[in-house]
Amino acid sequence: MTAAALTKSFGKLLQVTLVESEEIGIIGVGESTVPHLRDFNRLLEIDEADFVRRTKGTFKLGIQFRDWRRLGDSYVHGFGTIGRSLGLLDFHQYWLKARKLGLAKDIGHYSINTLAAPQGRFLVPPSDAPPNTPLADIVYAYQFDAGLYARYLRDYAEGRGARRIEGKIVEVKQNGESGFVESVRLESGATVAGDLFIDCSGFRALLIGGTLRSGFQDWTHWLPLDRAIAVPCEKVEPPTPYTRVTAREAGWQWRIPLQHRTGNGHVYSSRFVSDDEAMAVLLKNLDGKPLADATKPIRFAAGKRDKLWHKNVVAIGLAGGFLEPLESTAIFLIQSGIFRLVQLFPRRDFDPTLEQTYNAQAQFEYERIRDFLILHYCATEREDSELWRYCRSMKIPDSLREYIRLFADAGRFFRNGTELFAVTSWVQVMLGQGIRPRSYHPAADWVTDSDLRSFVESVEKLIARCVSIMPSHEDFIARHCAAV
Ligand SMILES: Cc1cc2nc3c(=O)[nH]c(=O)nc-3n(C[C@H](O)[C@H](O)[C@H](O)COP(=O)(O)OP(=O)(O)OC[C@H]3O[C@@H](n4cnc5c(N)ncnc54)[C@H](O)[C@@H]3O)c2cc1C
Repeated sequence: MTAAALTKSFGKLLQVTLVESEEIGIIGVGESTVPHLRDFNRLLEIDEADFVRRTKGTFKLGIQFRDWRRLGDSYVHGFGTIGRSLGLLDFHQYWLKARKLGLAKDIGHYSINTLAAPQGRFLVPPSDAPPNTPLADIVYAYQFDAGLYARYLRDYAEGRGARRIEGKIVEVKQNGESGFVESVRLESGATVAGDLFIDCSGFRALLIGGTLRSGFQDWTHWLPLDRAIAVPCEKVEPPTPYTRVTAREAGWQWRIPLQHRTGNGHVYSSRFVSDDEAMAVLLKNLDGKPLADATKPIRFAAGKRDKLWHKNVVAIGLAGGFLEPLESTAIFLIQSGIFRLVQLFPRRDFDPTLEQTYNAQAQFEYERIRDFLILHYCATEREDSELWRYCRSMKIPDSLREYIRLFADAGRFFRNGTELFAVTSWVQVMLGQGIRPRSYHPAADWVTDSDLRSFVESVEKLIARCVSIMPSHEDFIARHCAAV
């Protein structure tokens, strides 16, 4: 992704050299995304149908959470809007009032994404959809084969002049005075020199951690899951236009439908379950027959490097940090790291302000996502296992406690600057996890009860009508972007 975006953004101004080792390979998991990936593909001028076809991808309207609040419970975090705002207030404020009066259904009935997803319906917003119809509001992401996407982007980057060198880096040479990285030596003996080094070496964090020793902020006390096993299985039904995440005793399981198979994984805490038990839970809960052996347990720690940019090294991807994949945010963090790098791209003097700005923005971005993830764990009613008991009682960051306090009072939520998740995401997860505001914004009382009833009903009917004319996800793919 980095090489592709740099060749596209800088053309011949830069000589991009990519070193990677087939022997080491890529982590190869990570198949579910957030809608922002569309901006990345748009920057690269990638044709959507071609991309979906070549990555055997499907479309994603949101995430279905099962058993998170309590066993047997389910809710959808759909992308996009909820209802229609009126005056200064978001729709959910009117919904809260209507709900108190017994005039409203579950919040999912007022979002086109959330209603369409479990029905297996999907549509890219038609270009001629009037702007005030929910059809124009459909916001979607992708589920795809990450290995095929990497391959696709490799062709793209090489086609635009990036030079790829196959080989293993065995030594990193720094300038004796400045500590800047000057070159890397490969096992073959070849040396690759450069001005700027982008560390995309995954959990190894070869340059940012190994050479420059940028410290690691460990957040495992808030996000205690530290291992994952993945296995693909046969597809047994039409692909759902959403990712499913089911809470388990010591973690959770993902289910990501692609065109040709279903991706599965169990993310768990090694404090609360053994690898063998975690594997048994995963294999017992597959839709169809496994198509390969499960991966070995992948170990990780939630957190990030103190500095993602240090001297002339910028860490992108897992080298910079990792937050568990519950809300599919890692590929987004790669993308935003690249966009930030392009915006702050240095000249050879490496003005330190660029590094500071980059690191401050990255810190903010990671912390906001971290809090959103913790919300799924701390706001639970589950008490049936050690993990969930731990999560219910753990001390949470002050920033998150403040968000929850405001919401629990009267459903208020303020998106903090450029944080990734919007009000509608936070509201859906707060409600889904069982946080019920005691009241609603006082301004919602301007609307009389009878006007409120007709407003809420009209939104619900409109959304239901729009969903009813959407094709099935499977038909949409068959018509526009079926993998060959
Ligand atoms: C369990 C799990 C589930 C995930 N699910 C999602 C998801 O649903 N959605 C999402 O957005 N993200 C997800 N992710 C994250 C996603 O997988 C990664 O962000 C993505 O794959 C990018 O990884 P990377 O390029 O940073 O590292 P890697 O894929 O590990 O790539 C590292 C590269 O560095 C090379 N390399 C390393 N050392 C050397 C060396 N010495 N010499 C030469 N080359 C070297 C390797 O060959 C490789 O090419 C998940 C991650 C995990 C662990």
